[in-house]
Parts: sequence; C-alpha cells; structure tokens
Amino acid sequence: MSRYDYGGWAPYLPVAERQAKARKMMDKLRKQGVEIQPVEKIPGRIIARSFWGKGWCDHLDSFGDYANRLPRGRTYVRNGSVCHLKIDKGKVDAIVSGSSLYAIDITIDPLASPNWSELKKRCTGKIGTLLELLQGQLSGEIMGVVTDRKNGLFPQPGQIRYKCNCPDSAGMCKHIAAVIYGIGARLDERPELLFVLRGVDHEELIDADAAAASIASATGRGSSRRRAIADDNLEDVFGVELEDASPPPPSPPKKIARKSVSAKTATKKVADKPTVKVAAKNATKQPAFRATGRAVADLRKKLGLSKAAFARNLGVSAPTISNWEAVKGAIHPHPSSLEKLRRMHEEAQ
Ligand SMILES: [Zn+2]
Repeated sequence: MSRYDYGGWAPYLPVAERQAKARKMMDKLRKQGVEIQPVEKIPGRIIARSFWGKGWCDHLDSFGDYANRLPRGRTYVRNGSVCHLKIDKGKVDAIVSGSSLYAIDITIDPLASPNWSELKKRCTGKIGTLLELLQGQLSGEIMGVVTDRKNGLFPQPGQIRYKCNCPDSAGMCKHIAAVIYGIGARLDERPELLFVLRGVDHEELIDADAAAASIASATGRGSSRRRAIADDNLEDVFGVELEDASPPPPSPPKKIARKSVSAKTATKKVADKPTVKVAAKNATKQPAFRATGRAVADLRKKLGLSKAAFARNLGVSAPTISNWEAVKGAIHPHPSSLEKLRRMHEEAQ
C-alpha cells in the first residue's frame, strides 16, 4: 500500500484497515487463550470522566514531562487503537495498533507501605462505603488525601517505567501515551483496578470505618446520612436490582469469557452480581426477617455466599458481616441493609 502525506493525520481507510487487521490478530490471540481486554472507542474529546479515571489523567497531565508527551496518544486511545490493556499488580500489559501491532509494558512501583498506612489513617471513619470510595463520592478533605500529587494513590512519573517495541521507542512514544490514557479510561469502568495496580486492598480504607459504624449501630447511635445515601445508590452501580424482576439479558460468549477472567484478576463483584438478581427475581411480600446474628449466618449459608460476597451484595464490609454473625441476640443494621436482608431471606425460603 502506498503511503500518503496527510500532514500527520492518518487517512481514514488505512486506520480502518489497520484496525481490521488488529482485530483479526486479537481473535487469533483469544483462540490461543489470551485474555484480550480492549479499550473501546471513546466518542468525544473527553477520555475519562469518573473521579478515578479523570483523576489519573489529570494527575499525570500535571507533570511537565507527561503534559508534553501524553497528547500524542489521545487520537490512538480514542479511535480504539488500544487493542488490549490489562492491569495487574504493579504492571500494565498492552497491545496498540499502529503501523503494526506493538507490545507495551508499563511497570509501576507499588504504593510504599508507610504511604498506605498514612492514607488509611487519614481516611479512617471518613469514607462511608466501598461504593462511595469507588464512585469517588468523597468529602473534599478525603478527595484531597487520595489524589494528593505527592502522597496520594496516583504514581509519580519517577515510579513509572515503560517500554514499547516500536521503532520510535526512545522515551514515550504515542503507543505508550495511548496506554497511559487507556488506563484512565479503564478506571472509569473499573476503579478498583487503581488499587490493584498500586498493590493495596481498597477495602482496608473502609473496614475500620464499617467496624466503627457497626459498633455505633449496636450502641444505638445509628449510621450517618452519607451511608444511607450510598445504600440507595448501590442498586444503580452494581446492578443489585432487588426490586427489579427482570433477569439480565444473555451475553455473547466472548464477553462472558472476558468478564469471568477479569473478574478473577481483581474483583469478584461482577461474578457475585447474578446471585442476588436470581435470588430477588420472584420477590413478594413475606413475613419479616428477624435480625439476629444467627439469622444472618443462616441466611448467608443458605445462599451459599462467602462473607465477602454476602457483604458486597448488601453494600457493607466483610468485617461487618463477621461482627453481626458474632452477636448472640438482635443486631441493628442500617434500615436499607435490613430491608435487603429481609428480601434475601424471603427469596431463600
Ligand atoms: Zn511505541
């Protein structure tokens, strides 16, 4: 194919052809058992919109070196040239379609444990639920703590190393830049991967608070209003549709394969979701659930859920479940949690 000079703009057809070739190659890799996680095309100019996704891009854009070189990757990430991007602890593997397919490796230092301890200390009791954390529904103070340019969760440029096997590999090529933006786009969908990447467990930011709330609840002081709001939002975000009787539509086999593998790597939320949906499918009016530690333990076992999975379905932390189950008599969950427990109980009959 002849090459035309479009003043730096790639003509549409070659891009389409390149991407068609890339898709074929990705299919081939899938057949070989490689778990391919593409960054889908991004319409419009904004690459990431969520608290964590946008936060990632803005953070790195704020460093002069990156600000100069990252824009080279904008078109690539937006037009779907990032064929594969996988985030693991301390590393990102990606494949970008350019004039050929290029492999990009990015390694990022884990968050140093004194920094993580300090972050936890500063967040204790100030983040209501896992949902609020992942959605970025945080107070201004906590937003400042977690996105602090130096001591927050995002890495410093000096903690990031990258390589690409393209001919332009000296420094940050456009393929690497596209992958760095692609991480921001991925965090829009799966914010928990930021914590995976930095080698920390995001639930640790919640647990201390949930335990404190559980004690407050047991002593009759109740939970905060912020917690109540978050519980209401849970259904929208994780699809825990307790009142919606419609079952999820069947997914194409490829998607299932991708989801199941990605769920395995970082979070079990997606995998756990259908359990509740199925359980809630035929919800009708039933006798009230008696809120005791024993009843919670029995219900959880009946549903065959781990403490962590059961906790996620309720929008509370696993230690909260442990605390409840350890109580001999009545427990006092938040009203919205109690309502969910009741519905789950009815369905388990
Ligand atoms: Zn490159």
